[in-house]
Amino acid sequence: MNLQAPRGTHDVLPEEAVRWRRLEEAARACFERCGYEEIRPPLFEHAALYFKSSGETSDIVRKEMFTFGDPNEEGASFALRPELTPGVIRALVEADLFKKRGFWKLWYLGPAFRRERPQKGRFRQFTQLGVEAVGSADPLVDAETMILFADLLGMVGVRSWELRINSMGCGGCRGACREALRRAVEPDLGRFCQDCRSRFSRNVFRVLDCKNQACVEMAARLPATAERVCAHCRAHMESVENALRRADVPYRVDPRIVRGLDYYTRTVYEFSSPALGSQDALCGGGRYDTLVGDMGGPCVGSVGFAAGAERILMAMGEGTAPRAPDFFAVAVAEEFRADVFRLVTDLRRAGFSGDMDFEGRSIKAQMRSANRSGARYALLLGPQESARGMVRVKDMKDGTERDATPEEAKAILSGRRP
Ligand code: AMP
Repeated sequence: MNLQAPRGTHDVLPEEAVRWRRLEEAARACFERCGYEEIRPPLFEHAALYFKSSGETSDIVRKEMFTFGDPNEEGASFALRPELTPGVIRALVEADLFKKRGFWKLWYLGPAFRRERPQKGRFRQFTQLGVEAVGSADPLVDAETMILFADLLGMVGVRSWELRINSMGCGGCRGACREALRRAVEPDLGRFCQDCRSRFSRNVFRVLDCKNQACVEMAARLPATAERVCAHCRAHMESVENALRRADVPYRVDPRIVRGLDYYTRTVYEFSSPALGSQDALCGGGRYDTLVGDMGGPCVGSVGFAAGAERILMAMGEGTAPRAPDFFAVAVAEEFRADVFRLVTDLRRAGFSGDMDFEGRSIKAQMRSANRSGARYALLLGPQESARGMVRVKDMKDGTERDATPEEAKAILSGRRP
């Protein structure tokens, strides 16, 4: 029996979970202070949802979805979600939430699955956190999502990052941009890599973000989409840039940012970190003004991003110390364990964190555990303390000890000297 986790998955062990929680709490705080509400779509959907939204030309739909059927339902095909945006939009449309109001700001955090070749920073199960602002064409919302993510990186201590933005044009001008690009690529098509040759017919924009060195050099000479978009798209991009500048969020316009998904219109962007190596994308996002209408909802403008939690954690580096507990309670003799347990329960219910020994260890060993736990106070219960309804409070920092009633002990634990 193979007892290893499947390739491309990983366990979050207790020490690591502390860092995860720090990121999750910062993300939640950051999203909610900007008025985003949480949404939790299911982990799997009908596979057709992704064909329809992410697009049949995208790599994640063509090559990377984990799909499965249901023996009891002929023809059913499901897919573990490779991204969350389609599920979020489906949920909004299905629940008819647009009847309540026209503009929704939503956030999510949860696992996504892609059958990719695992490597550093690339997994088959990974965690995405993201936002979707659905129902507004305002370029300020595009900027809001980017500012929000830049602020989140600041909150969790990621200082070194880069934001690159681009415009993909709208329904009106995108076709012309695509044709211009195809015309520019076609004469040299034979010199592009195999992948790019197949992208040429599927989604020629993807030629621009190929990582193959020869393709990179040829792509540098291709027409930049942002310079060919219509006047409306150009004005939109200028407003986004102005808002970023006013918020002091550094960015760079990069014609190579095209995003792999089919649904993007106008603004597209990517945050990356130089600390991450080849898989350096922290977050990708953009505007998708036709997706909601295409999925049966109203034709409203929308913008959002998805970020990889594992990548943010890698960029955060090590060194998030777990929060030390408030106390460790010690039974001076076996017969006091029940009283110690009652004290521990009482303190926990009062909001303090702490523990006791559950392995029947000697008082010396219990004191060692108290030390190792990092708790500021050890609480000792023996015959004298028990007889007087008191507890001995030892300050592990300076070694001083004093007797205290349970109420006084609580005051000491909360930093108020009684
Ligand atoms: P995408 O929609 O593909 O741009 O994904 C959004 C973000 O999710 C990326 O910027 C990465 O941070 C993260 N991500 C995507 N695929 C993976 C993966 N296979 N493993 C880990 N993180 C990923």
